[in-house]
Amino acid sequence: MGVANQAGQMIMILVMRYPAFRTPARLVAVAVAAALLTVLAACGGDDGGAATGRPTVVVTTSPLGALVRDLVGDTADVEVLIPNDLDPHDFQPSVKDAERLARADLIVSNGAELETGLEGAIAQARRDGVPTFVMAAHVPLRSGPESGHDGEEGHDGEEGHEHGASDPHIWLDPVLMARGMAALAPVIEAKLSVDLRDRPAQQRARLAELNARLQKAAAQIPAARRKLVTGHDSLGYFARRYGFEVVGAVIPSLSSQAEPSAAQVGGVVATIRREKVPAIFSETGTPRAVAEAISSDSGAKVVDLTTHSVADDGSYYTTMENLMTTIADNLRDGG
Ligand SMILES: [Zn+2]
Repeated sequence: MGVANQAGQMIMILVMRYPAFRTPARLVAVAVAAALLTVLAACGGDDGGAATGRPTVVVTTSPLGALVRDLVGDTADVEVLIPNDLDPHDFQPSVKDAERLARADLIVSNGAELETGLEGAIAQARRDGVPTFVMAAHVPLRSGPESGHDGEEGHDGEEGHEHGASDPHIWLDPVLMARGMAALAPVIEAKLSVDLRDRPAQQRARLAELNARLQKAAAQIPAARRKLVTGHDSLGYFARRYGFEVVGAVIPSLSSQAEPSAAQVGGVVATIRREKVPAIFSETGTPRAVAEAISSDSGAKVVDLTTHSVADDGSYYTTMENLMTTIADNLRDGG
């Protein structure tokens, strides 16, 4: 963090706090000073920034980051905050992560309590004047299952459980993402002062083509075999879109961070046997030992599935096709 950056932040604070600095002449002076400081900061090169002169969008998760990159092309730099192999449900930001959020020209988050560990740092950046866009606020959300009651009785109307909590796993439905990205595009253009030209329309077409390919792939699986057991309750939107039924989960919760009870584990084993489900799709954050125990008791094999991160090529489209292929390969001839 160089002197130039600190001076730049002070100017920003002055402009935000004191309306007198917003008069046209002063704004020009501030803009010139800010431009000079940006050049100084770029020359200093001590903050690890890309120094491309382009605005920076900081995106919390890699699936959303892949879509934002696909949308903005070379008009802006896109930084993904949560590393691709880490569980967003369980991510805690470092001081450096908070600095990246504070320096962003726009923050794009998933929301609906996916990145709960980041909420404080994002709120702080918003208070400091960084524009934010929460994807979950722009798509219709489904409610998760009422959790925590399997095998329990006599708790009618009890408060404090996750009754009807909103499902945050919206990126696993390309149709929802087309809607969310259509809402994001004008925000990017306004907040970053960039022209996306026909990029939003091109992305909409790519998402529609992806959806058609996924529909076709799902149709190859006999309807009676379209039954999913996942690490946690992450594929609700995906299942609804492509005609699957989520019959159970290693952790029957919208977050990977809940603890399954013995009764819940026993219930999943019974469901797998009854429904003749051949595979348990394990995800980032799925407790391996619990998945293996369910596997040995039920006869279903454990299969790793990428749901909260992106494929090695960084493409959202590849990621979704890989997801469907892995599911289809393991359900089509199983049972
Ligand atoms: Zn999840």
